[in-house]
Amino acid sequence: MLWIIRIINQRQRFWWKYQKYFFLLGLTLIVSVGVFFADSINAQTDELEKSLPPLQSHPLPPTLVQWKDRHNSGDYFDQISLTPVGYLIWSEFPIKIYLDRPSNPDDPAAITRRFNNWVDAVTQAIAEWQEYLPVVNVKDPKLADIVIERTEPPLDTSFDSETGQLNIPRARSAQTSYDFYLTKDKSPILRHRMTIKISPRLSKLSILSASRHELGHALGIWGHSDQQTDALYFSQVRNLPSISGRDINTLKKIYQQPTRLGWRLPN
Ligand SMILES: [Zn+2]
Repeated sequence: MLWIIRIINQRQRFWWKYQKYFFLLGLTLIVSVGVFFADSINAQTDELEKSLPPLQSHPLPPTLVQWKDRHNSGDYFDQISLTPVGYLIWSEFPIKIYLDRPSNPDDPAAITRRFNNWVDAVTQAIAEWQEYLPVVNVKDPKLADIVIERTEPPLDTSFDSETGQLNIPRARSAQTSYDFYLTKDKSPILRHRMTIKISPRLSKLSILSASRHELGHALGIWGHSDQQTDALYFSQVRNLPSISGRDINTLKKIYQQPTRLGWRLPN
């Protein structure tokens, strides 16, 4: 997960037109870490709430209506983070997914074989989630809701003001981030888009496990489980967990919550 709001270049025209909203969205993110200025920010948050679509819930997708957990295994809904727009819920199905593919998949070279393995593993993870939320593959990343890139996730460096040093963490193998945009309709709809980066250097099994986990985030589980048997467990474990009943119970609860995503801006 990555707590940033990015505005993508091709959407800059919208950015200029609606920058007020995004400025305010940015503000609320800052607020969540700056208790100090709480009073002055509350007024801004009120204005933000007036300019964004009101929080409303969408109908539960039929795949999740049908889901019944016979083992009553519980959930980890209390671990899910709320974003400035509410829960990160998709409301238009099927969800469109783009993933990187080799330009010449039949090439016998080792480099292409590794790329094909990466595609196979990610495709399997998509198929596993497909059981719970309808998804479809698209060939143009510009049309996708979720873009899966075969690339090294960036290092998250932070500055420690106490020591005056940069903290450089270990390389991570996968990462998911989100950004918001407005549709080009006369009365625009607030939507989101997810970007998943999965390292090319992992084994096929680790790619499967990483993409299963990151897809969980991209589909709306913006938080982590504390049980090793869940796909959304916060750390990598030796026996790679499958999608569990707890994962789906959590997903279902999330999709029953209100969100500002998928709704029109007020006039
Ligand atoms: Zn995670």
